[in-house]
Amino acid sequence: MLAGKSIQQDEAVVRPQFSEEEFMAERRKMIEAISAHGLDDQEVLDVLARVPRHEFVNPEDIDFAYRDQPVPIGEGQTISQPLMVATMTSLAEVGADDSVLEIGTGSGYQAAVLAEMAREVVSVEIIGTHAKNAADRLKRLGYENISVIHGDGYFGWEEGAPYDAVIVTAAPEKIPQALIDQLAPGGRLVIPLGKSGWTQNLLLVRKDLDGNLEARKKESVRFVPFTRDKR
Ligand code: SAH
Repeated sequence: MLAGKSIQQDEAVVRPQFSEEEFMAERRKMIEAISAHGLDDQEVLDVLARVPRHEFVNPEDIDFAYRDQPVPIGEGQTISQPLMVATMTSLAEVGADDSVLEIGTGSGYQAAVLAEMAREVVSVEIIGTHAKNAADRLKRLGYENISVIHGDGYFGWEEGAPYDAVIVTAAPEKIPQALIDQLAPGGRLVIPLGKSGWTQNLLLVRKDLDGNLEARKKESVRFVPFTRDKR
């Protein structure tokens, strides 16, 4: 863990400065923690070893950035646990030429991970401040293949369809039909399904070349609710 001390100065908290080497060492430890759970998708692990997760948490939470746990990002939302980001990304089998839709931009971290592997990423976020902050952050970090949309992901994002992969990072009780419709033949949809406040089932839904669907339950997970009122 990063053991930085904050210095109280004229009411403002001055954050400690960490070096890039320290962040890299933290990322290596995070990768070890993920691998210890049996996730062995090397391409995904390599991407998580590169993306600066500390840029996606609030400055006061920087010590938690590389722990294998979710971190609050404001408005009751969280940046997902690294193991969950790795698991969902791996299930989505993202290829270099793929177009990917994410529902639930949050901090933008999962979108950045996807953008390192895909041709383009569209990420839809229902909370305006999160959409704006994530878009600014991703631009600042130099990601040019991500479009952040402020909207209700229940409707997917028709303009960019079809998508080779769709990842949903908030849990609805049923799969929104638009997400099925916007999935390309041969595409993968990764979605937590179930009631909020409980654990949900992480599903991998495949659409074959004839448009037939096959769903598999992967594991029990816990996600924030999929909401419907745009804020
Ligand atoms: N992928 C994010 C984690 C986000 S938490 C990250 O890497 O940081 C889930 C996000 O889904 C929250 O920001 C929440 O506001 C958003 N969300 C919930 N319901 C939504 C909906 N109907 N459409 C779009 N975003 C939604």
